[in-house]
Amino acid sequence: MTCVICQSGIPEAGTTTVTLERGTTLIVFRRVPATICPNCGESYLDDAVVDQVYQAADDATAAGVEVDVREFHHASA
Ligand SMILES: [Zn+2]
Repeated sequence: MTCVICQSGIPEAGTTTVTLERGTTLIVFRRVPATICPNCGESYLDDAVVDQVYQAADDATAAGVEVDVREFHHASA
């Protein structure tokens, strides 16, 4: 797969950091599995990973968390 952003890099498996801001909640996930373009740095996340990140962000927002930095862990379900 050629990177759709720069049209020249070949994305490789790696990890990235995802930051989400919702209202007063800022949540940062570290070591999120992603496919990353070595040329421009664009990252591609699996839908399942995106769903999990957004679900965790929803939970944090509902819990009234203001700032949270956490390691990403695959859901066991
Ligand atoms: Zn690229």
